Amino acid sequence: MSVAALLTIDEALERVLAHTRPLPAEDVPVVEAAGRVLAADATARVDLPPFDSSAMDGYAVRAADTPGTLRVVGQSAAGRPATEAVRAGTAVGISTGAVVPEGADAVVPVERTEGDGDAVRVEAVAPGANVRPRGGDTRAGEVVVAAGTLVGPTQVGALVSAGVESVPCARTPRVALLATGSELRRPGEPLGPGQIYESNTVMLAAQLRRAGADARLLGAVADDEDETRAALARGLEADVLLTSGGVSVGPHDLVRPLLAELDVAEVFWGVAVKPGKPLSFGTRNGTLVFGLPGNPVSSLVGFELFVRPAVMALQGAREPRPAFLPGRLAAALRRNPARDELVRARLGPGAVLEPVTGQESHMIARAASAAALVLVPRGDGELAAGADVSWLPL
Ligand code: AMP
Ligand code: MG
Repeated sequence: MSVAALLTIDEALERVLAHTRPLPAEDVPVVEAAGRVLAADATARVDLPPFDSSAMDGYAVRAADTPGTLRVVGQSAAGRPATEAVRAGTAVGISTGAVVPEGADAVVPVERTEGDGDAVRVEAVAPGANVRPRGGDTRAGEVVVAAGTLVGPTQVGALVSAGVESVPCARTPRVALLATGSELRRPGEPLGPGQIYESNTVMLAAQLRRAGADARLLGAVADDEDETRAALARGLEADVLLTSGGVSVGPHDLVRPLLAELDVAEVFWGVAVKPGKPLSFGTRNGTLVFGLPGNPVSSLVGFELFVRPAVMALQGAREPRPAFLPGRLAAALRRNPARDELVRARLGPGAVLEPVTGQESHMIARAASAAALVLVPRGDGELAAGADVSWLPL
């Protein structure tokens, strides 16, 4: 794999997204919609607030009658509107969230009143004071949450408040995960000579869950053609197949030739990024296939740069690309002349990023103390301490 043949991160990402179409939509109850992406604009079913309501506990009045002493003719509590209207010289006691009675155009907060029972002395208020007008937040028919938005707690709150019961969302992507490597053992099994724990699919499953996908673990296969071919064939039934390991240039790297045998059309192999260079991407009948390198940090980084965007695009996200944030380097970093690098760093106050020691692609334990992947663009020399950089949250 010559360096000249490698795609840049952006070129590779654009090729992935060019092959990715949103999955068909289904109706999702709003109470279950957090973490999903809206396939269409969601519009308010009711005005919000649905009626003129009070922002305070106090007295509903005609502003023109204030200041003055008013006769209290009724009470309006939340959910129990007053039956009486407010007329010249009268007031209605009111609580926060209650309907402002007919005739009233302002609410005097209780702290600015004196009296009890039948009469109340109120200070001056302007028309509209402490009244939340009907439709002041949104009106029936207006867009509350736009298509392509990732629904979070705030959006769930807004949708329910606006009377929306269910929303169309792309179906949850099904992602098959397959580890390859004769050295791999399950968590908890004793390690024999030359063996290591299979951590990548566990880590990828956690990344997938956060990205809103449904991870299906196919387990680990030895570096054996028949075993690997059969497992790959099963994985190709999913929306996305993620393989781990076996995509490099060694004699036991079987994944790419076997994918080719199974009619997966390779779109690219090799990205000018460190870690994660020997990443492969292809498609078969709409199934996206990523061959992630076996080194755990390469797998972690490859997922954030290419797989998460694909999973978000399958869900119809408006902006599926990695959301890099601005920050500053705590210490100087040497640049790689040929490849963009993603450096694991701790995140301090003011988005100051301190690279962790141990940046090799097998060092997943060192990466565990990092909260950020700092993008160090390829080039000569070094980025100075204090340099402006972009970073991705881990
Ligand atoms: P490979 O990409 O298969 O050449 O593997 C590169 C390195 O990653 C080797 O040291 C493997 O032992 C290690 N590795 C491969 N797959 C996994 C996995 N699923 N979990 C942890 N380490 C792995
Ligand atoms: Mg291997």
